[in-house]
Amino acid sequence: MTRHAAITLVLAGSLFLAAFAAVACKSDESQAPASGAPATPALSPEAVAAAAANAENPFFKPYGTPHNVPPFDLIKNEHFLPAIEQGIRLEAAEVDAIVANRKKPTFENTIAALDRTGIFLSEANAVFGALQGANTNDELQALARKTAPMLAAHRDDIGLNEKLFARVKAVYDKRDTLDLGREELFLLENTYRDFVRGGALLDAARKARLRELNQELASLSVKFGENVLAETNAFQMVIDDKADLAGLPPSVVAMAAAAAKQSGLADGKWLFTIHVPSMTPFLTYSERRPLREKLHRAYFMKGDNGDARDNKDVARKIAALRGEKARLLGYASHAAFVLENNMAKTPEKVNEFLAQLWEPTLLKAREEVAALQALMDRDPKAGRGAKLASWDWWLYTERLRQEKYALDDSALRPYFKLDNVRDGIFALCEKLYGLKFIEKPDLPRYHPDVQVFEVREADGRHTGVLYMDFHPRPSKRSGAWSGAFRRASYEKGVRVPPISTITCNFTRPTADAPALLSTDEAETFFHEFGHSLATLFSQGRYRSRTVARDSVELPSQIMEHWVFEPELLAVYAKHYQTGETIPVELVQKLEKSQLFNQGFVTAEYLAACILDMAWHTAPGEAATDTRQFENQIMGGIGLIPEIVPRYRSTYFSHIFSGGYSAGYYAYIWSEVLDCDAYEAFEEKGIFDRATADSFRKNVLEPFGTEEIGAQYLRFRGSEPKIDGLLKNRGLEVKK
Ligand SMILES: [Zn+2]
Repeated sequence: MTRHAAITLVLAGSLFLAAFAAVACKSDESQAPASGAPATPALSPEAVAAAAANAENPFFKPYGTPHNVPPFDLIKNEHFLPAIEQGIRLEAAEVDAIVANRKKPTFENTIAALDRTGIFLSEANAVFGALQGANTNDELQALARKTAPMLAAHRDDIGLNEKLFARVKAVYDKRDTLDLGREELFLLENTYRDFVRGGALLDAARKARLRELNQELASLSVKFGENVLAETNAFQMVIDDKADLAGLPPSVVAMAAAAAKQSGLADGKWLFTIHVPSMTPFLTYSERRPLREKLHRAYFMKGDNGDARDNKDVARKIAALRGEKARLLGYASHAAFVLENNMAKTPEKVNEFLAQLWEPTLLKAREEVAALQALMDRDPKAGRGAKLASWDWWLYTERLRQEKYALDDSALRPYFKLDNVRDGIFALCEKLYGLKFIEKPDLPRYHPDVQVFEVREADGRHTGVLYMDFHPRPSKRSGAWSGAFRRASYEKGVRVPPISTITCNFTRPTADAPALLSTDEAETFFHEFGHSLATLFSQGRYRSRTVARDSVELPSQIMEHWVFEPELLAVYAKHYQTGETIPVELVQKLEKSQLFNQGFVTAEYLAACILDMAWHTAPGEAATDTRQFENQIMGGIGLIPEIVPRYRSTYFSHIFSGGYSAGYYAYIWSEVLDCDAYEAFEEKGIFDRATADSFRKNVLEPFGTEEIGAQYLRFRGSEPKIDGLLKNRGLEVKK
């Protein structure tokens, strides 16, 4: 199974969740908080004036849209800054009101009250953050550079507010006497812990330094992401000699011709880029070895070219500042700081887990190298004595797959038309959970490519809205992720339905064919959909969620188990031209080839996990030279030169501009859970409604409202075992 660049916006930490991740808003427009109506006590004169001055800004008034979705047709770049500034003012006023309360601190007047702050800010910031990732422009990028340190300062103003912390601590200290429910206790403990982890117990000098570090880290993280995007867009490989298209299937040639045309190139030219849907097919089929090398090199040298977009120093500085911050807070390293909140708990545990998997993986990868080299030796076009390199891997893997299983990517793709895969996911969700998906072509969207669906329960009740944005654009960062314009919550006992998003970089349609996905892309789609299901089903009395990062891939990765199940393929995998269902022989070949290339896939992934941990466990500054550091770490584990880590440091957005620092291992850690959980379905039937109901009620709905271990136990009746994962990856140790 392929793991990929999924980033979710599920963040640990209740306090900070309110500030920049979760979003909530009343669904009832008549009482929408975004109206600037006096819902907040003690509005400052500035806030009142801003509301008056921004009467036309969509964030300052009820949206007036169906399901209260953001009115993208009205939102302009210039609306974000005033809205974010107003959000900061309003949340500060809300916090002041909690502090000014003369009554003794209680759960309700302090912890629950804090949970309700920052709604206006979340609303604007979630839309801003989503667009910055999926549809950015120079103005939004400049705005991100401005707002990132502003928001970091705002979070510190709350997290380091001594009077506020005194109230939180007062409630926390008497928690055993309060007779709180499970959810309340979980919220209280996490709120207190967030304050402590945010520096509340530090002396004044350390608090001041912490503020500086947070500012700098916020800016560097934005810079890192900007550089990766610019690097990804900067490289173009234009082919104007037909001979250089040797080996490429007509569909790939057509895609490159369309890309050239879109870029304004003259007829008779073909464009390849380092966006994955363009690069991978070229690496898979091109017989022009120097061109494969040129393309792959451009990809893995992203951010490492010594120019204005170079990320070597940015990465190094981020890691160093994180280390300093962790030590300031009393932790040995950034990893120790992060992992305290995860299931794994310590860096030692993670490293031990990774080491346990690394040995058998490397062995498997070496076997694969030998097989590919043998194939290459027999290839007259490879050049005499040529030694397999990273840019050869895709080509010879594809040929080996054809040889061993008579299975090839271009024969499969016609059965994985994007719309059919989507409908397959919808069908699966209906079988498991009774969900219905109704397309809403009239709802506002931020780009014409975006598809919008309303999600309903079996009984017709509204569950939420789902935005899906599938294809690459220069304005979109690479990878695939699920997020939300608004997360589910309750207002006065009424559920505020969520608006979830799925953003991908899948193969585009061409002039002659619709978007035909690779099997990896189909799997990614199922994955992101799983995150969205957790967002859509989310239930909890409070807005805050605290999810252990290393369990966050459970809802997503369990979905991957269904994608190639013959019973489901029969439902959705129809040929895009003939409508014919995928032939049984092809399904059987697909099943047989499931473990094929697992050494490579797992090795490139684990190498990136190990790199992440190395950056974040160093006791002092990890490196003075990023490239040298990376080489040293990769050399240390014996990574073979034919494999490049899935992400090199200079474009490892997960850890340097996303939420996965000291957490990239989360995918394979979660895999222990999802493989074990899926076995429950296999035992009862993969569409079993009772098992699905239990998974929804025990895991998805309360995700982030209590410890995952307890939730899992209620679903499965026993602790997860690692056996399923080893089997899934073909890594069982042969005794
Ligand atoms: Zn994911």
